Amino acid sequence: MFTEFNLNPLLEKALKALEFTTPTPVQTQAIPVALAGNDIMACAQTGSGKTAAFILPTLHNLMNNPQPNSGTRALVLAPTRELARQLFKQCEALAKFTGIQTGLITGGESFKFQAATFRKNPEIIISTPGRLIDHLGRKPTLMEDVEVLILDEADRMLDMGFAEDVTGIADACKKQHQTLLFSATMNQKGIRHIIKQVLNEPVVISVDEIKDKHASITQQMILADDDQHKDRLMTWMLANETYRQCIIFCNTKIKTDEIYHFLRFHKHKVGVLHGDMTQDERNHIMSRMQQGHISVLVATDVASRGLDVKNIDLVINYDLPRSADDYVHRIGRTGRAGEQGIAVSLINHFEWNLKSTIERYLQTELEVRKIKALIGKYKGPKKLKSNGKPVGKKKKDPSKGSAKKPAAKKSNKPKAASSKPRGPSTPRFGDGSAPFKPKKQ
Ligand code: AMP
Repeated sequence: MFTEFNLNPLLEKALKALEFTTPTPVQTQAIPVALAGNDIMACAQTGSGKTAAFILPTLHNLMNNPQPNSGTRALVLAPTRELARQLFKQCEALAKFTGIQTGLITGGESFKFQAATFRKNPEIIISTPGRLIDHLGRKPTLMEDVEVLILDEADRMLDMGFAEDVTGIADACKKQHQTLLFSATMNQKGIRHIIKQVLNEPVVISVDEIKDKHASITQQMILADDDQHKDRLMTWMLANETYRQCIIFCNTKIKTDEIYHFLRFHKHKVGVLHGDMTQDERNHIMSRMQQGHISVLVATDVASRGLDVKNIDLVINYDLPRSADDYVHRIGRTGRAGEQGIAVSLINHFEWNLKSTIERYLQTELEVRKIKALIGKYKGPKKLKSNGKPVGKKKKDPSKGSAKKPAAKKSNKPKAASSKPRGPSTPRFGDGSAPFKPKKQ
């Protein structure tokens, strides 16, 4: 029970209003440590309740030690605008009765408006690193009163190239400050370096490393011949699965747009989310999703982290993501806060090896599913090695004629991307994306 932590009654009131009665495992472990003022290095994935795990003790400590003449006292850094916005909402809900103010600072929003936010001197700022660095460039003392620095989804921030920004921001905080670092994995390249630089004798908390089995998510795969076949499988699932809301993940913006128009044409309540959209467009789509006006969201990995919509119970990986970590984040959009979810990956010939890498990483096998009416020609490799990858060299495509046929003259000209949007002969990466390369774990 939350009462064990002896949190400020105004926080207990907010917990009651939110109907949070029992702390999640990460909350049970992190709250007492953070209340005591220690640094934390926590391995916890989104959906674990980590936001309240760092916001509650922060709010409690700020209230217990009032500093009326201070500037911003707590700073939360998040990798994406969507995540920052969600953190902001949850922070506001938890701080509802406390009088503590929170400000949101992200890219894509007006600088002028944000300068006004800083002038209001909110106790807590939630920000993405890049935009905060811009503000610090104009006013280096902006964060000099920060007593608590929280790095949420630190692995993702490093993935996105924010390492220097994060350490720069940590240097701009009060000399003696508490740092709470949350990351979905501790295997990320560079994370050890950041930990050394920004944490001081941290208490290590590991409740559910990214690799841990997602018991509440059924993970399935369906073999597909090509994109046309994937379209049919996707359409079948949207027509026949029971779901409240669904996310379809693709690897490229072009593909998300293509599928979005395809589904719109077929009268689905569909939205699209990718990095080329303006922040206003992204916010608009997210709120329509939250309000249930959209039942299918087609997205790139922009939406794979942090996004918290309770009703998502179906995730379709139209393309397999390029790394196992991304896979885990994508499927983690469902099965949240105790709900059940299903994640179906459509896998073609080119994606088989990546699927094996993901399975090995998660130490789990995706359940093979077949849709009777839509069984394709591709059956997977005939023989498999112990690592799940095919034995031997890739076979030549018999449809390309006999082996005796003279090889076509090699051209040095780069091949133009196919203008055909889809089809069996459409090159898999004809839309400009790089071929799949499993990330080294
Ligand atoms: P997070 O991992 O912080 O993104 O939280 C995932 C979801 O769980 C959010 O929708 C929270 O509102 C919800 N949540 C967090 N803590 C609790 C709790 N103790 N009881 C019930 N729901 C919670």
